[in-house]
Amino acid sequence: AAMRETRTKKTKTVCTFCGVGCTFEVWTKGRKILKVEPVEQSPVNSISSCVKGKFGWDFVNSEERLTTPLIRKGDQFVQATWDEALTLISEKLGTISKTEGTDAIGFVSSSKITNEENYLMQKLARQIFKTNNVDNCSRYCQSPATDGLLSTVGFGGDSGTIQDIAKAGLVIIIGANPTEGHPVLATRVKRAHKLHGQKLIVSDLRKHEMAERSDLFIHPNQGTDFVWLSAVAKYILDQGWQNEEFIRQHVNQYEEYVKHLEKFTLEFAEELTGIKKQQLIEVAKMIHEADGTCILWGMGVTQNIAGSHTSAAISNLLLLTGNYMREGAGAYPLRGHNNVQGACDMGTLPGWLPGNQHIANDEARERFEKAYGVKISNKPGKDNTQMLEAVESGDLKAIYLVGEDMAWIDSNSNHVHETLSKLDFFVVQDVFFTKTAQFADVVLPASPSLEKEGTFTNTERRVQRLYQVFEPLEDSKPDWWIIQQVANYMGANWNYSHPSEIFAEMASLAPIFMEANYEVLEGWNSFFWGSNQGASTPLLFTDGFNFPDKKAVFSLVDFVPPVQYGEEFDLVLNNGRLLEHFHEGNLTNKSRGLQYKLPEVFVEVSPELAKEREIADGFLVRLLSPYGAIKLRALVTDRVQGNELYVPMHSVSHENAVNLLTGSTGDVRTNTPAYKQTKVQMQVIKKR
Ligand code: SF4
Repeated sequence: AAMRETRTKKTKTVCTFCGVGCTFEVWTKGRKILKVEPVEQSPVNSISSCVKGKFGWDFVNSEERLTTPLIRKGDQFVQATWDEALTLISEKLGTISKTEGTDAIGFVSSSKITNEENYLMQKLARQIFKTNNVDNCSRYCQSPATDGLLSTVGFGGDSGTIQDIAKAGLVIIIGANPTEGHPVLATRVKRAHKLHGQKLIVSDLRKHEMAERSDLFIHPNQGTDFVWLSAVAKYILDQGWQNEEFIRQHVNQYEEYVKHLEKFTLEFAEELTGIKKQQLIEVAKMIHEADGTCILWGMGVTQNIAGSHTSAAISNLLLLTGNYMREGAGAYPLRGHNNVQGACDMGTLPGWLPGNQHIANDEARERFEKAYGVKISNKPGKDNTQMLEAVESGDLKAIYLVGEDMAWIDSNSNHVHETLSKLDFFVVQDVFFTKTAQFADVVLPASPSLEKEGTFTNTERRVQRLYQVFEPLEDSKPDWWIIQQVANYMGANWNYSHPSEIFAEMASLAPIFMEANYEVLEGWNSFFWGSNQGASTPLLFTDGFNFPDKKAVFSLVDFVPPVQYGEEFDLVLNNGRLLEHFHEGNLTNKSRGLQYKLPEVFVEVSPELAKEREIADGFLVRLLSPYGAIKLRALVTDRVQGNELYVPMHSVSHENAVNLLTGSTGDVRTNTPAYKQTKVQMQVIKKR
């Protein structure tokens, strides 16, 4: 052991902090990280990285790590052995399943765990507990984007690679802030813009860094992107700029779509969105003149009541102008967490089996039934939102949750906390004792990515391997090991000894992964799932779309007006990511360097509003919504305008977490909370 301590080791890993999927060599000595080095072989980032990827890993050795199972005894948690914890879980879940029915249990998976672990989570739900009640955190971010793409082109994923974006003549970024959310991808776009004359349009409420650089910045009223996108499409049609040949060959429902767009005149759009007609004409012209358009979008689009409709409108516009099936064109939903794409691809979704096969697809479902030896319902189970509703109505009694801080991340936190405390039995599996763990009956200590092997899938559908850097800390275990134990304590006989075996089983049941395996993925290699019969396909669509006749479909969904608030809630509250932190901050709050750079959260206030309310930098203010209140410091900046405020979603303490303010209304098709449609009051508490 002493020898080992002194040896320096280099191990390849995949970054866990965002969907870009940078890879690194981690230099270690014992449990000490000497450096994290991006190298030329890294297919996504080469020698680039951002501050999180390079310096965000201290949490692995944090003293706050969970290192042993915990069982609730009254108001206390006591340490337990794995056998005690697993016995209790199997007894409780077994009893609930038997007495209350198989759908009385829900499974919440995670986009922070590997593909193999997600695959096992859905297998645990479907094979062992015989329920489709399984979901992951894409419910809180990207489900609407996936839905909009599934309904138009048949696959929910980026149309091409991140490198391909550089080949576009025009990039349009809607409701996303890649500089902070997807830094290395942002660098690629910035370079193409600066060096290769690529044009850039940004649509956002907030004038972030990318907006500052853009050729055209448009500012729609909160939640109205659908309207301007449809008006631009109609204007393109009016000018005869649509790509008739592409549409004739590749898209259904054209005439209906043309008719559907009739009401979206420039005047109508200007009134609803507040964007000047001239700017909308400019957008249409820039698309018309560009050699290839990529549209990138994020949670500014998806976390709205019409998030899925707006995502479909984006895809419609790309279809209308022939911007699919070529490099430097297409749809790029920006996946937030590092494995959002993978978690969905692995079937931790109530309506989807691994490999993006719908639960109602008889042929696919029967393949799984045969492999698992059970009957699987052809009806989707409950998503995260519906699970909590079912707890309220008494239909759902237990949740087994992995790597998701629901109590902090789901909207309307106060309500979520009440609901979680009503569960009969709640298992939380994580690296740290999260806010959600406080509501648990059993807490299981999991290992983070550096302590296990597996694969992650980044935003461009690229599957990459990560190699084990450290042994699991003390008695913590890889999630795949824990899930397997839960299954076996329930009487199953799973005996995976390495994630490669899990991946192989998954690939044998999912045609889009047919040619993928651990050898293909060895080292720095990667694999893209796509339309090319199980072979790696960097360009998602090459000779048609994912429908039986290979034709895409213009979606005919309509605009849904934003959530209504009482007049007293007079300020629009927007929220989003910060460069220095990962999501709610559970991991990056443990990193001293990152914490030093950004110790406190703030609310951005426009200069106009600051003047009107006599607020200066550093004033302590209270924000109040119908659902809760938080206190934080004001930061006066012209990044925001008028009556719009901005609060980072990352928060240092639960007391000022933005989700105490957000409401429970969700996207009309996917139930993704409309986090971005919140209105508040602001009161000054203290002047500096
Ligand atoms: Fe990690 Fe994303 Fe930063 Fe790359 S851009 S280093 S994947 S956080």
